[in-house]
Amino acid sequence: MKVVPKPSSEAVRVRMQRTAQRDTPPELALRSALHRLGLRFRVHVRPIRGLLRQADVAFPSARVAVFVDGCFWHGCPLHGTWPKANAEWWRAKIESNRARDADTDRRLKAAGWTVVRVWEHEDPEEAAKRVAGLVGSARDVPAPRRGSSRRSGARRNRRVSARKDR
Ligand SMILES: [Zn+2]
Repeated sequence: MKVVPKPSSEAVRVRMQRTAQRDTPPELALRSALHRLGLRFRVHVRPIRGLLRQADVAFPSARVAVFVDGCFWHGCPLHGTWPKANAEWWRAKIESNRARDADTDRRLKAAGWTVVRVWEHEDPEEAAKRVAGLVGSARDVPAPRRGSSRRSGARRNRRVSARKDR
């Protein structure tokens, strides 16, 4: 594997750092928006066992996998920039990311998943609605809510009254 070139500028350095991170600001924004819509999901999921591709957000029962793609790393047509320094290396890197994305989409679709790609620049509320629409149409009849919180509340009350009795 090629060695990553030294970042040529502060902006590039920040971008390089950011990509290694999970829970990027656009990911968190999307997750918050999904929560606000009342959706429950898992994060950092490998939809296919043994395949090293990780969805940022997944709805396993609905088989919907969501990837939040950074504009720089995934070559957004609106905001993708191509650094001048080490131009060839960056172009190869971004092109290979795109090829990998396309391959991931193919593999997941073949395994029965619906893949949603959200650009970093997209409005998280809009993206969340798009995801919710797909999850809603793919979801089976929702499982009955477990009354665990109510039960533990009752237990707490019992404990309180028992203490009072003493
Ligand atoms: Zn963009």
